[in-house]
Amino acid sequence: MDNPAKFYITTPIYYVNAHPHIGHTYTTVVCDAIARRQRMMGMDTYFLTGTDEHGQKIERSATAAGCTPKEFVDKIAAEYRELWERMKLSYDDFIRTTEPRHVRGVQALFTRLQERGYIYKGSYSGQYCVFDELYVDAVGPGAPCPECGRPTETVQEENYFFKLSAMEDRLLKLYAEQPDFIRPETRRNEVIAFVRSGLRDLSVSRTTFKWGIPVPGDPKHVIYVWLDALANYITAIGFGSDKEKDKKKFEHYWPADVHMIGKEIVRFHCVYWPAFLLAAELPLPKSIVAHGWLLFEESKMSKSRGNIVRSETILDTLGADTLRYFLLREIVFGSDGSFSFDALVQRFNADLANGLGNLSSRTLSMITRYFTGEVPYPTTAQERTADDRAVAELGEQTIRDFNAQFEQFQFSRALETAWGLVSAVNKYIVDNEPWTLAEKPGQDARARLGTVLYTSAEALRIVTALAHPIIPESTARIWQQLGLGEIGKVNLRELKWGQLQIGTKLGTVEAVFPRADKSTIERMQKMEQERSTVSESQSQAAETEPARTGAQAGQRATEAAGPVSPAPPSKSAEVAAGPAAPTADNKISIDDFLKVELRVGEVKVAEKVKGADKLLRMEVDIGTEVRQIVAGIAKAYDPEKLIGRKVVIVANLQPRKLRGLESQGMIVAASLGDEGLPVLAGFLEDVPVGAKLK
Ligand SMILES: [Zn+2]
Repeated sequence: MDNPAKFYITTPIYYVNAHPHIGHTYTTVVCDAIARRQRMMGMDTYFLTGTDEHGQKIERSATAAGCTPKEFVDKIAAEYRELWERMKLSYDDFIRTTEPRHVRGVQALFTRLQERGYIYKGSYSGQYCVFDELYVDAVGPGAPCPECGRPTETVQEENYFFKLSAMEDRLLKLYAEQPDFIRPETRRNEVIAFVRSGLRDLSVSRTTFKWGIPVPGDPKHVIYVWLDALANYITAIGFGSDKEKDKKKFEHYWPADVHMIGKEIVRFHCVYWPAFLLAAELPLPKSIVAHGWLLFEESKMSKSRGNIVRSETILDTLGADTLRYFLLREIVFGSDGSFSFDALVQRFNADLANGLGNLSSRTLSMITRYFTGEVPYPTTAQERTADDRAVAELGEQTIRDFNAQFEQFQFSRALETAWGLVSAVNKYIVDNEPWTLAEKPGQDARARLGTVLYTSAEALRIVTALAHPIIPESTARIWQQLGLGEIGKVNLRELKWGQLQIGTKLGTVEAVFPRADKSTIERMQKMEQERSTVSESQSQAAETEPARTGAQAGQRATEAAGPVSPAPPSKSAEVAAGPAAPTADNKISIDDFLKVELRVGEVKVAEKVKGADKLLRMEVDIGTEVRQIVAGIAKAYDPEKLIGRKVVIVANLQPRKLRGLESQGMIVAASLGDEGLPVLAGFLEDVPVGAKLK
């Protein structure tokens, strides 16, 4: 209300303990499309992204990599920036939490909270999860973290605490009064339930490590990483600076219109962040929007499954626009979506090469051929056919629907709407046969030809303008070919049917999209394999932890539970086959479950597999026989420690070969985090070897 002309949108800042993958790209592309469209709507838009660079994990990873934390974070932050350039992301600012402007802003926020009586000093003794960088309700050394299931460490320290308990009522009131504060609805309900269950004061400083922002006046403490990270949304636009220019900028852009986040970091953004802001007496963001996860063929991307997809592979083959289009078109925003190379190539061929690409090249080359490259006259309204009118009406309708859907974050439906016009016009061209009209003598045929080509070109212009925020490069080229100059200058608010000027001189007409076939899929798969081999041989700590604020960060143990299956020798068979169709409600019958024979086994022999740093070869006694099992658990378990251990085996699995060794079954384990760290299933009571699980 206060300033309708500005629009401020943020991505989470990505935790530099992991290399960027396609999940990070997804979040950032969504924000980029929104920001580009807002600019085309005439809004004073500010699009922020950046990297989250503090915390104990970084300190440890740097030590493991043999460099300083600063050297470590510089390297990964540079990877993000480089990738974002290639993805054509139009961010206005890239903040790094190690920058002086951020450090100063976080300290100012901390002081502000202290001055208002929301921060006090207390002492804490309890369990701490290094992975989540979180104090947790768990009892005893090594007790599993309720968030991620990893063992916790006992810490005893004097800490600063934030009075989160005092914010319960104010937060509940906020959620009630601003239903759009958290979207979608399912996330909102989770947050409300969490706050209703009671909030305890939050420890907001640490003395156990150094790599962070010192507490003002008490530098023995560093500020809690989440308070540090969340503050980026205000420090980037000038909060905490005493320069007049920065103060003005902060007042102009804050509060944010949209914080875009992944669903795993909802609590931090919807509970802690508004609590900090309320306590600091700063305005609250208008909306926090959580999207789902990007899965690889129905399963969560993880390094141990060998199914992390890097954006670079698609950039090198089909280009940034193809990936951008796929992510927005294929994934229903808010739900989990699936990525596969097959689906990518199919989308590319159907929608881009054969859809928009075909419409563009046939329309523009016919105008070039038949009208010396100048947009022809359509006939007067009375002389137009029902076909001509239908396309014009659909054009108008497309603009209205696309805008409404896009504004509701229904990107997939909006693109479906726009491409509905593409197919309608491609059909209109086939039905009206302009190539036949061109052969016919006489004024009437010539007038029809002009009308058909004008109508097609006008529809092309509308789709191109609407799609520009999603596929900026190819639409800019089509716009040039249409002879319309710079597409970024279009005002989308004024987009209407019939604005294409008669006599507009076309640019040079050429194909906008490359060709793709089966070999493209094979090329991409090969590139992925090569890339993952390289990163494995470099094998550094940065690969092993998920993003804190990135897309698809730490997964809950309950969701992660599942058997560890070592990466098959080749993904190609699976890619070609695609995912198995689940039933409508995703449930299987008891009979289906009983088909799986689960048995207790005891590890008799365990050893590393030469040339495969993830694999262990085991001999497991399952009562009736001893089986050889090869499993991808070497990173998590020393072979010696496994001997004598009881494990759960899928006993009736078809044998398969891994690195030349036959694996006669599968070992059951939970798979934790982005990297899929395996934790073997076991029993608290003693169980005999060979016992069946049911
Ligand atoms: Zn944890």
